[in-house]
Amino acid sequence: MNPPVPAPTEADYEGGVVPIQCSGWLPETPPATYRALHGDVEADVVVIGAGLAGSSLTLHLAELGVDVVTLETKQPGNGASGRNAGHVQTYLDALEPLQDWPDKGRRFIDFFIQNRNIVFDLCRKHGIDGDAAKSGIVEAAYRKHTSLERKTAQWKSFGYDVDIVTTSDMKALLGTEKYQYGVHWREGGRVNPYLFTNGMIAAAVRAGARIYGDSPVLACDKQRQCWRVSTAKGSVLAPQVVICTNGHAGNSFFPALARTQYPLVACAMATRPLPPAVLDVVNPARVAMTQFPTGLYPLVIDGRNRIITATIPHPGGAQCADTYFSYFVRYLRRTYPQIRDARIELEAYWTGMTANSSSVYHADYPKLYHVADGVLALMNLGTWGNVMGPQLGMNVAQALASDRQQDFILPWKHRSQCVSSDCSSSRPAT
Ligand SMILES: Cc1cc2nc3c(=O)[nH]c(=O)nc-3n(C[C@H](O)[C@H](O)[C@H](O)COP(=O)(O)OP(=O)(O)OC[C@H]3O[C@@H](n4cnc5c(N)ncnc54)[C@H](O)[C@@H]3O)c2cc1C
Repeated sequence: MNPPVPAPTEADYEGGVVPIQCSGWLPETPPATYRALHGDVEADVVVIGAGLAGSSLTLHLAELGVDVVTLETKQPGNGASGRNAGHVQTYLDALEPLQDWPDKGRRFIDFFIQNRNIVFDLCRKHGIDGDAAKSGIVEAAYRKHTSLERKTAQWKSFGYDVDIVTTSDMKALLGTEKYQYGVHWREGGRVNPYLFTNGMIAAAVRAGARIYGDSPVLACDKQRQCWRVSTAKGSVLAPQVVICTNGHAGNSFFPALARTQYPLVACAMATRPLPPAVLDVVNPARVAMTQFPTGLYPLVIDGRNRIITATIPHPGGAQCADTYFSYFVRYLRRTYPQIRDARIELEAYWTGMTANSSSVYHADYPKLYHVADGVLALMNLGTWGNVMGPQLGMNVAQALASDRQQDFILPWKHRSQCVSSDCSSSRPAT
């Protein structure tokens, strides 16, 4: 039997760190757990953090024959990767920020496009039961937006199967006439991010990776050509460290990295399985739906016939599950008056932390920091982690395995570019 989960505190909600058991993505039968590191071991690469980025990195390194050890504070999927809204977004919202990148981001865009189906591909390849569905995405708007028209034309020119849709088509997709305009992306869809993350880790173990749970990293110390990465009861000695801790405070062993983050706490919720009166009406095409331009209350209906949605809580209000759920239900009844007073109940409410690389939402792209010689940090996946986490984890694995810095798809941010003070002081402040 699972041990009882402590009730989250207000600070847990505000920090996006309620126990992962609060997340609606956890299955009834929990996936494998990984024991803590005891003693000193060696490896080629040590990965810190088993979210979408760290898990993909671990999996791809192991598949490439690299001896990899991964250390996770709790268990895989404990961070944002076990808490997100489940959208698999196969396009990029804004390409303008890439204008400042080498070759204006063309290489990155090509890489993203080429690997846009990575979630579905990895699930298929490794037999991951992540409730993934390539059911498409609809960006729904109440009126015409020229920016959506431009975006659609641009991604069509990249070969995407995407169209502007108007009222009657929107009704067929979403089951409502309230949205008169939108974009229908026929790729992308949904995934259970917790199961997907754990599935990647299980596949990595099969490929030879060593995973340690309940092993928060406390320090990274340089020892000749290697780094000693220490936990409470053990350490890993490796020439290469990759930090994949996202917005979590866990990176205090390189404290300056925390300053690369614009943390944003989001809340998410899952309904109980919906009654037929709702299921027959809401989102009949079962697309992943997002509202343009606000992005609030995106919606997927998962394999258990539940709605999963998310929003941004008010500062100081993140624990108010009833408030955000009642806003959502009000929105749903307004958008689908046909459902009348059909019962829609809350099954789970949780919060999580996204870490953006910019305070300007649309300028937000992931970053690869060169923290010190032999230490990289793959961070700031923002709200695009389901696709970009696996993609970039794979890319970093390939570049490390081939020892070719030019293969990193993200611009290489030297530590002097990421933070003003010394990144390489590795002991937490006391
Ligand atoms: C509510 C919400 C909704 C979202 N919706 C979507 C969506 O629909 N689609 C989408 O693509 N993205 C979405 N995102 C964003 C997405 O979840 C993130 O971009 C992604 O999960 C980040 O993955 P990561 O591996 O970088 O970080 P994380 O998943 O946060 O993983 C970091 C890991 O590092 C571990 N760690 C931290 N410190 C240490 C330490 N000292 N030692 C060892 N381990 C440590 C943590 O425990 C954690 O497991 C959403 C996020 C939230 C919060």
